[in-house]
Amino acid sequence: MVQVPAPLSEIKNLNSVADLAAMAIALIRKAGCEYGDIRLCSYRYQNLRARDHSLELLSDNINSGFGVRVLLNGAWGFAASPHKTPEEIVRIVDKAVEIAKGSRLSQKNRVQLVPVEAYRDNYVTPIEIEPFEIAIAEKAELLLTINDRLLSYSKKGIKKANSFIYLSREEKTFASTEGSLIEQTLYRSYAGYNCTAVANGDVQSRSYERAPLNLGYENVNAQDLLSQIERVAEEAIEKVKAPKGKYGCSTLILKPTNLWLTIHESVGHPTELDRVLGYEANFAGTSFATPDKLRKLRYAAPWINFKCDRTQPGGRATVGYDDEGVKSQEWYVVKDGILVDYLTDRETAYRIGRGSSNGCSFADSWGSIPIVRIPNLGLEPGAEGGSNTATLEEMIADTEDGILIDGIGSYSIDQQRRNFQFGGDAFWKIKKGKIVGMLKDIVYHSMTTDFWNSVDAIAPASELQQWGTNMCGKGEPMQIAQMTHACVPVRVRNIEIGVAS
Ligand SMILES: [Zn+2]
Repeated sequence: MVQVPAPLSEIKNLNSVADLAAMAIALIRKAGCEYGDIRLCSYRYQNLRARDHSLELLSDNINSGFGVRVLLNGAWGFAASPHKTPEEIVRIVDKAVEIAKGSRLSQKNRVQLVPVEAYRDNYVTPIEIEPFEIAIAEKAELLLTINDRLLSYSKKGIKKANSFIYLSREEKTFASTEGSLIEQTLYRSYAGYNCTAVANGDVQSRSYERAPLNLGYENVNAQDLLSQIERVAEEAIEKVKAPKGKYGCSTLILKPTNLWLTIHESVGHPTELDRVLGYEANFAGTSFATPDKLRKLRYAAPWINFKCDRTQPGGRATVGYDDEGVKSQEWYVVKDGILVDYLTDRETAYRIGRGSSNGCSFADSWGSIPIVRIPNLGLEPGAEGGSNTATLEEMIADTEDGILIDGIGSYSIDQQRRNFQFGGDAFWKIKKGKIVGMLKDIVYHSMTTDFWNSVDAIAPASELQQWGTNMCGKGEPMQIAQMTHACVPVRVRNIEIGVAS
């Protein structure tokens, strides 16, 4: 058993978060670990969901605890507890050290970490409206109003309505043996709805969302949600009566509401360095983008740049520091179409000879060990005046025969993230430069590099939108992460189209 060192036992208030962190760090050092850190966290999650005329879910949970990670003789040990007490800190540090000793027995390669600067800092997500100061009744009322208005189109075919508001505040204190003490408070908000139309023996839905972002209640924006109801209901009704797409090749124009998921699956996950190095293979496998291809692989057309940015205002992965205390930063993974970098934590960065980590370490809870996660990873807008730069309107006007896609649908991707298939939420036929009506049940297939090399038009910065996800699953046991894939509309040529069953 590790004992509390004498100087710390004299600390008067051992229940303050900073003191508990200091105590853990002293214990980790005393155990002879080359590295260790502790994350003390407190979360509040409030979720509301309405189905038709009833509130289907209302949960308001507070959840807190801490996790200790140690590196001993090149092997990781991790342990966690919901009880933030001095006694539990002693027990959990001891457990993490024991696990590290056990891990060492089956380990092939010692873990080494790239250096990181020590920070003492406090980061809080900038928000306008504290989400937990708005009454739950007001939130429930909004969802029921949305559903009532959607269902007022029942005579025209709308038979189901669903709406949701998800809010969170996560407070965490990170301390490491390297001298960091970082406090962060992260706010997240997300709201939206969908409705389902039934007609002619078919069922189709249409959705509208406020993108999941790191903002306060201002992102819920009741006025905007309500203002889109008529359009969304009418489009669901038109969609259910629309003809199905036909198999073949087509020109696609993809809105940011659809493109973000294609970026997520075909650029985000394949450049996670743990996947690239074969340390992670859950949830659609490893990656084709191996280090021998770095600075050589033509991932995309020369006018395509994918940039990571954990400092982007509102981004769902925007933080002050990652879960290893690495400061948020910006970097390219694909520059002028070439694969130039990866998404790293301190361990994987060392394995490819990088001098530092770019800060993609994230754990979804105090009880989870941090792993490499996709940060905010966006498609840079087309260069001002560039020969391939065109607005969405110009792309449509310049397309003889094509399909415009909005929103996301089904998706799948192979074990190396080479071949993929994506659906959408709404599809419009383009003929001779004009939208001529809706289609339904369309999926597009391609190979990652073929697809991104077939982009022939990209919209300018004025059309940039911050779409992303609050539900990216990775790891075993699964951890959930969130990230934004800010992007602009693009046009892609000669893409294979299928019909969704
Ligand atoms: Zn994902």
